[in-house]
Amino acid sequence: MLSLKNVNVSFDQQAVLKDFSVDFNQNQTTVIVGPSGSGKSTLLRTINLLNYPASGTLSLNQTSFTFPNHFKASDVSRYRQNFGMVFQNFELFPHLSALGNVIEGPTQVLKQSKADATQKATDLLNQVGLAQKTDAYPNELSGGQQQRVAIARALAMEPEFILYDEPTSALDPELEGEVLKVIKDLAKKRNSQIVVTHNLNFAEEIADHILFLEEGHVNYYGSAQGFFNSENDRIKNFTKKMM
Ligand code: ADP
Ligand code: MG
Repeated sequence: MLSLKNVNVSFDQQAVLKDFSVDFNQNQTTVIVGPSGSGKSTLLRTINLLNYPASGTLSLNQTSFTFPNHFKASDVSRYRQNFGMVFQNFELFPHLSALGNVIEGPTQVLKQSKADATQKATDLLNQVGLAQKTDAYPNELSGGQQQRVAIARALAMEPEFILYDEPTSALDPELEGEVLKVIKDLAKKRNSQIVVTHNLNFAEEIADHILFLEEGHVNYYGSAQGFFNSENDRIKNFTKKMM
């Protein structure tokens, strides 16, 4: 289990996450929704310790970090390896092929042999429908293909959780579907995923849990079914606007 307890994050004087406490389950897909500026990206970056909270505790399985405190860089790096990130703009290494992108972390960070990493990467690229594109460079791939490489790259590190920040927001609708399908397949296989998206139809298809954020606090956290059938006015207004 990944837990955030009483976490506060601010930028300048502005509080972005306010006394935030949530437990995320493994082997489930949690979808985070909420208006722009509500703190969704900040939450993912905090989970990953790309932002340090001003106060509060983060814990994953046996490891925990309580702020404010000073932590060893090596402990933070080891913790970060529990998370794979998939960004809106793919952020592939432009000078590496699809295969090169996927084996980079396993060979450089996990010290796998090139042969083992290549074998695994080939399987993963196959799994995301890119068996024919292993040698293509990012600029030779569509946005949807690039994002599928990014997902394969995240999976190759065998993280505890994959965190997606609006993974299809930069894609045309016809390319969005191929990326959503990959995330949906992973949800069915009970991968541990936390997905920020504005696509509530997709959220309804894949989410075990929904976390609805507004202005840095939790407005709803519970079953997807409970969210989409809620009688709460704020939830109903939000879903009406977005669906
Ligand atoms: P969302 O992803 O839900 O749109 P964000 O987490 O990006 O929201 O942002 C939440 C708030 O925090 C916004 O008001 C944003 O301007 C502010 N914010 C986010 N990152 C930074 C930063 N690095 N520096 C200053 N303010 C930031
Ligand atoms: Mg965001």
